[in-house]
Amino acid sequence: MLSEVLNHISQGVVAVSENDLVLFFNDAANTVSSDIFNEQLVIGLEIPEVRRRTSAGSMKYLLSMSRTGGEEVRAFMETQNKYGTDLYFEIVAAPFKTERHDLNNVLLLMITDVTENKVFEHKLLSQTEYIRTLFETANTMIFGLDMRGYVTQWNRQAANITGYSRDEVYARRVREFLFDDESLGLFEGYLQRILDGESVPGLEISIRSRDQKIHHLLASVTPRLSTNKVPIDVTIIGQDITELTNYRSSLETMVKLRTRELQRALTKEQEALEIRSRFVSIASHEFRVPLNSIAHTGSVLTKNVEFMAADDVRNHLNDITRNANHMSVLLDDVLEYGKKDQAKIKLVKTEVNLNEFLESIFEDVRRSAANTHKIEATLPSLEFKLSIDTKLMRSIVTNLLSNAIKFSPDKEKVYVEVRLELGQLSLSVKDDGIGIPMEEQSQIFEPFTRGKEAMEISGTGLGLSIVKKSVELMEGTLLLESEPGKGSCFTVVIPFQPIHV
Ligand code: ADP
Repeated sequence: MLSEVLNHISQGVVAVSENDLVLFFNDAANTVSSDIFNEQLVIGLEIPEVRRRTSAGSMKYLLSMSRTGGEEVRAFMETQNKYGTDLYFEIVAAPFKTERHDLNNVLLLMITDVTENKVFEHKLLSQTEYIRTLFETANTMIFGLDMRGYVTQWNRQAANITGYSRDEVYARRVREFLFDDESLGLFEGYLQRILDGESVPGLEISIRSRDQKIHHLLASVTPRLSTNKVPIDVTIIGQDITELTNYRSSLETMVKLRTRELQRALTKEQEALEIRSRFVSIASHEFRVPLNSIAHTGSVLTKNVEFMAADDVRNHLNDITRNANHMSVLLDDVLEYGKKDQAKIKLVKTEVNLNEFLESIFEDVRRSAANTHKIEATLPSLEFKLSIDTKLMRSIVTNLLSNAIKFSPDKEKVYVEVRLELGQLSLSVKDDGIGIPMEEQSQIFEPFTRGKEAMEISGTGLGLSIVKKSVELMEGTLLLESEPGKGSCFTVVIPFQPIHV
């Protein structure tokens, strides 16, 4: 009856006598015996040795262990069937005891085929090993955090990037060493959204490495949930994009720079266009008037010269000369402006006695303005010479003085004041003329730009632009104070070097 029951269970059962003889074995033990034992089981036969030794030793050893200890002893064995498939068995040797009997040291061997479990266990182990290798050798930074922010995982790349070894960071909170406040806030906000079940694209965060360098990571966060869906920990995978980020920002800077350069070039181009159109309108007016006059006088002379008195002819010829001279002055202005436009001009300094030099300019200006105005000059008493670019200086003073005279037609005086202080020469040219409205004051230094009130008075709009360029070349500054109807005062301040003799 008992044997019939035992024949119906899947576990192999073998009863072994005190002197290790086989007393009984069930069907299941019979089926697996050829896989486990060296010989087929036969009743009365001495229990055969196992085909391979169990980890606890031989079959004899297993039996004796159980007998001496009086309790069950467990051993695992690994074998192969005739087809070469690995098989795993668990063998338990246990004394056969009932509540009332101790059956003379009879032992029961219970044999369970654990191959399926073992295979599963092997698979699991190799899977774990595979994941561990992936984790370790990945070229991205991977680290794990528990829900309080303590580090639980830290791969090799995390150590490489941050300079912190695994032992240093385990059981430390990331906020203590990896993130600054701003990045931490960003990271925690991002984490919360992920934990709330939102699908969020990669996050760009910055971390600080041991050597205080900032690294930019493109991070993705994956939470691990318990069976009842409570998050246990999170794994962060971060791609170091520092170089990319730096490259991107250097590109952005480059684009900004180029855009600015382009903008500047464009503005210059527009300015040039505007200047050209202003030039055309000024030239057509300023050149045409004297030119027409010359042409007209010329034709009058051609037609009537035989009938004209000598004085009339001289007057007409004088007209032609005056107009031609006027045009020549205008042309000089244009040419001079063009020259300075090249901006490659080098200063040519010569030693001069400043007061003598200025007096000679005043004389020239007075003569060309037909002595309409007196130039009242306040000059410093100097015991030394100055080293300056006389050509530029002459052009500045001549233009300012001619303007002062030109734009104060009903006045008799213009004023010049020169002062030398702290290595700087300051020269002011003042008049009591028509003055310049505030809104025009910043524009009149542009070439071919003339004030509204000035339209009645001849000019090209080049004088002040020449002054401005000359002052810039001398590394000086140009100031203007003016009030309509009251007059103007232009002041030039330039650095100078005294030459002591
Ligand atoms: P231009 O004298 O040929 O007109 P400038 O470049 O010398 O050209 O001067 C530009 C404009 O500035 C003049 O047209 C005039 O409107 C104004 N301006 C220059 N100097 C004076 C001044 N001393 N008084 C009043 N306006 C002046």
